[in-house]
Amino acid sequence: MIKPPPLRNDCFALPAGTHWTPVVEALATLRERLGPVTSSEVLPLEQTLGRVLAEDVIALRSNPPLPNTAVDGYGFAGPIPEGPQILPLIEGRAAAGIPFDGVVPEGMAIRVLTGAPLPQGVDTVILEEDVNCDGDQIAFHGPLKKGANARRAGEDVSVSDVIFARGRVVTPADLALAAATGLSELPVRQQLRVGVLSTGDELVEVGETAGKGQIYDANRPMLLGLLEQMGFAAVDLGRVKDDRDALEARLNNAAEQVDVILTSGGASAGDEDHVSALLTEKGAIQHWRIALKPGRPLALGMWQNTPIFGLPGNPVAALVCTLIFARPALGQMAGAEWTVPQGFDVPAGFSKRKKPGRREYLRARIRNGRVETFASEGSGRISGLSWAEGLVELGDRAAEIQHGDLVRYIPYGSFNL
Ligand code: AMP
Ligand code: MG
Repeated sequence: MIKPPPLRNDCFALPAGTHWTPVVEALATLRERLGPVTSSEVLPLEQTLGRVLAEDVIALRSNPPLPNTAVDGYGFAGPIPEGPQILPLIEGRAAAGIPFDGVVPEGMAIRVLTGAPLPQGVDTVILEEDVNCDGDQIAFHGPLKKGANARRAGEDVSVSDVIFARGRVVTPADLALAAATGLSELPVRQQLRVGVLSTGDELVEVGETAGKGQIYDANRPMLLGLLEQMGFAAVDLGRVKDDRDALEARLNNAAEQVDVILTSGGASAGDEDHVSALLTEKGAIQHWRIALKPGRPLALGMWQNTPIFGLPGNPVAALVCTLIFARPALGQMAGAEWTVPQGFDVPAGFSKRKKPGRREYLRARIRNGRVETFASEGSGRISGLSWAEGLVELGDRAAEIQHGDLVRYIPYGSFNL
């Protein structure tokens, strides 16, 4: 007589005696094994936003290039002692972009406007609001320190200072700093080309009519969007059936087009898990049993020297694995620094009892100063991904979370989304 297996109330229960790799260990391995694969080029500044710097970058000019005034007012030689002061004005003025070429004699003052280079003989400025002026002389109260209201040359950046380290991703503020320090172009890496392939007999294309038992390919538009927002060149590799030959042909083709391939679906060890089966048969593959929910399975393989990240088919798990593993790994392949998403400790607006032995990510968002989580933890609940504005990260140990306890919240923004 055949008997059904005992019921399992948790499909993530850890099989006795097997080692599940903690997330930190999995990340450390990726960090150690992967390096930059992209070549570099020099691009005009305005084309470098979001690119990875291929070299350290050095200022070609100081900022500010000359000492200048931080305010509208009157300039003279400091310091000025305590008490009422009267200084005669010399004719002329210094304005931003229109320097005063003469010398201001000791004991005299000159009209200066914000950003104007300080004329010779001037190192100190008084605000115009603190001055009475009759056109010939100014009256004000001391004391004033030497250098008051003035900016020193190079006080922000000195020529030859390293302004950016290699591996930095160029931000809008970086464009300002580069421009201010005399750079018109930057050495950057070419974008990492990341292909996205969906697998599964059940999938149909968005826009097609879905038959009975079929579902729309939801992972592909999501993964392509994620990659684009993370600054990679996302390449649509389409969709293949659960057919080993078709998959093999598609991977052969893809390996010539892209630097790395993300597949979704078919990555566990079931009968229809062809990504896993094909990689096992033809290439090197590592099945990572990561102590992570949602997450398993994650398969890492090499196909004709092209790394493959075999993501789980469940959209929630596919997204979490992409954010947690693929993002820093792809970043490093793109030549960027290894990234750790910035999280914040926020009081919980939920309660939860968590099992030991795995890390968990919950779809979450902040409302009224508390972090709330999506009602269902089901890995197929795509609406929860869209509802969420970030993830709550729960560490590997057991936890008993009560309302108001601090939990780690990582906004989607910390992943560049
Ligand atoms: P698999 O990893 O292939 O066993 O798939 C796990 C679950 O994810 C199944 O319910 C699949 O139907 C679903 N799935 C796989 N690929 C996709 C996709 N591209 N879009 C939406 N759901 C998917
Ligand atoms: Mg499948």
